[in-house]
Amino acid sequence: MGHASAGGGQGHPLFVALAPPPPTLYLRRVMTTPLVDPFQRAISYLRVSVTDRCDFRCVYCMSESMTFLPKAELLTLEELDRLCSAFIRLGVEKLRITGGEPLVRKGILTFFDAMSRHLGAGALKELTLTTNGSQLARFAPQLAAAGVKRINVSLDTLDEAKFAEITRWGRLKQVLNGIDAAQKAGLRVKINTVALKGFNEDELFPLAQWCAERDMDLTFIEVMPMGDIGNENRLDQYWSLKDLRASLAERYTLIDLAERTGGPARYVQLRETGQKIGFITPLTHNFCESCNRVRITCTGEIFTCLGQEDRADLRAPLRAHPETDAPLEDAIRAAIAQKPRGHDFDYSRQSLGGQMSRHMSHTGG
Ligand code: SAM
Ligand code: SF4
Repeated sequence: MGHASAGGGQGHPLFVALAPPPPTLYLRRVMTTPLVDPFQRAISYLRVSVTDRCDFRCVYCMSESMTFLPKAELLTLEELDRLCSAFIRLGVEKLRITGGEPLVRKGILTFFDAMSRHLGAGALKELTLTTNGSQLARFAPQLAAAGVKRINVSLDTLDEAKFAEITRWGRLKQVLNGIDAAQKAGLRVKINTVALKGFNEDELFPLAQWCAERDMDLTFIEVMPMGDIGNENRLDQYWSLKDLRASLAERYTLIDLAERTGGPARYVQLRETGQKIGFITPLTHNFCESCNRVRITCTGEIFTCLGQEDRADLRAPLRAHPETDAPLEDAIRAAIAQKPRGHDFDYSRQSLGGQMSRHMSHTGG
């Protein structure tokens, strides 16, 4: 039915009875209350781990002998689609796919393709991923074709030997090729670097310069107490971003940027180069007030706070009701209604307060 005939019929008594309903999307938007938690934070950002598996074994993330979940525990690609689509219906506008390594999940590009329909409809504003970069040389063009515009690539060092040491199984060259392919495909790349004491302290300036030369933003992440990592000691790894920032300020003038993403990242601009540098400090209580995000594990559990154990199972309502998403939406709403005010990470007094038993690769970083 064309707009012209509907418009032309306005005022006619028959029009009211025959008029088509407004588009479904519009109806849904006005009829569903958006997801707002008890602290009046609207949930607009969803991070989904699509696998706990990975082709690397980063020392701060997993032990070398990490045991992975049986396949049947994971959400299928169809279940992932239903789940993400439900969140998008409820107001999520940004979707980040993560893992484990999301690009080692078989068929994951089909899922990206499927999600692009929400970009096309305008309900989803951004579809993105966090990756270790190992598979980008293969997949970058397809990701770009699915509507992905920006990606985060994790890279902690530019030194080949150190890269092999920190990732245990990774090869630097493969990741650098992946980054090249991503940029060639038109994807904007942000580098995420975990700040590790005694490991990459000496690479602060080389990394910043390398990113500047390639027009990539750079964000440093403080190491977090997630999961058992074998013999590695967290306190040995911890390099405070306060110290990192102070080192940066010895060479550059740092201009604080007002930019906020609703997450733990804070940004500065280096006056001398114009480059943007981010700091992710989840261990300080400086972002919970504006938290706009929730995380889904690869098994379909929702974690409403990265630093708390509060969780709810969304896989059960998904699997029990293949014909309707109503119970799933109810479960999502119930979980959001329990979102905690903030997290409990604490490295103070040289102990690991707030240690999380789950791995980052399970929840998704
Ligand atoms: N495999 C992908 C990758 O490495 O980008 C996505 C998943 S990984 C869990 C997401 C991010 O979490 C990476 O940037 C990684 O460096 C970071 N990460 C993993 N374990 C961490 C920890 N214990 N503390 C801080 N960051 C961590
Ligand atoms: Fe894999 Fe990413 Fe964890 Fe490294 S940080 S082991 S790449 S999931």
